[in-house]
This record gives sequence, C-alpha cells and structure tokens, in this order.
Amino acid sequence: MAIMEIVTVGHDVLRQEAKPVPKVTKKVQTLVKNMIDTMYHADGVGLAAPQIGVSQRIIVIDIGEGPTALVNPTIEEREGLDIDVEGCLSIPGVNGYVRRSTRVVVAYLDEKGKPQRLHAEGVLSRALQHELDHLDGVLFIDNMLEEVKPQSEEAGCSEQTVEQQESR
Ligand SMILES: [Zn+2]
Repeated sequence: MAIMEIVTVGHDVLRQEAKPVPKVTKKVQTLVKNMIDTMYHADGVGLAAPQIGVSQRIIVIDIGEGPTALVNPTIEEREGLDIDVEGCLSIPGVNGYVRRSTRVVVAYLDEKGKPQRLHAEGVLSRALQHELDHLDGVLFIDNMLEEVKPQSEEAGCSEQTVEQQESR
C-alpha cells in the first residue's frame, strides 16, 4: 500500500493535458493501486493521476460501490443537465455549484487493458465528469457557478440563486 502526495492548485501538472496510456502495463497497474489507496486515505470519491503528479490519462472512482479504474476514458454520450455542489482534493476548503450532464456513457480500458463501457448517472456521472476534466487540465473552480461558503448563512441563499439561474 502506497499513499501518494496529492498536489494542490497552483501546481503546473494540474493544468497540463495528460498523456494517453499506450499500454496497460504492470507499472500502470501499480499506479492504479496507489491511486486507489491514496483516494481512500484522503476520503475522496475519485482521483485523477495528475492529482498525484502523474500526467497520464488514468482516473479512479468509488462512490461507495467499490473502486473502478478507468484508463484513457472518453465521454461517448451525454444527456441532461444538473447543478450540484462539488469539491476537489486538490482545492481544499472550496465547494461550489457546477453544471454537469445528468447521464454520461464513458468508454475506457480497465486495469487489465480490456475495453469497457460505463453508463453512469447521478453522483457517479458527476464524479466521472469532474475526474475527466482533470485529464484536460480543467478544475471545477473554472466552471463554478457559485461558491458555497461552509457554515454561513450565504450557503442557503446561494442555493436559491442557483435555482433561479436554472429556470432562466
Ligand atoms: Zn478534483
């Protein structure tokens, strides 16, 4: 078990476009394992390789149904729009509303190098889109509609504002 250091906003690697993985080797499998360990250690539901300083197109996700590793993931289909609050292990202390597709279909290679397809909605769909953005150097604060201040009265107000924006 290896816990890697999670790099935070301001680090160049978070803004780079990550490189496709040419082949799922033993080295990639070890990296995936370390990413899963690091995600659990940080209490996260997802982690992208750039967040541990590795500019490769690999993400791991666990929304409470066991870990899934996705190598070279691409969104093939998206449907619907949904606004909800997100945070990021690389941007501690910031939470805010982000607009995402409600449902996505993601094609990827699993940790054995086998092509897979994942149909996701709700929290899983949101987590996948957040992690996929990391592979293109995009952070959720780039598309944040409004920040949610923890434990302040503003949090209640901002939710109303978001609803108003939605109905426009
Ligand atoms: Zn993130």
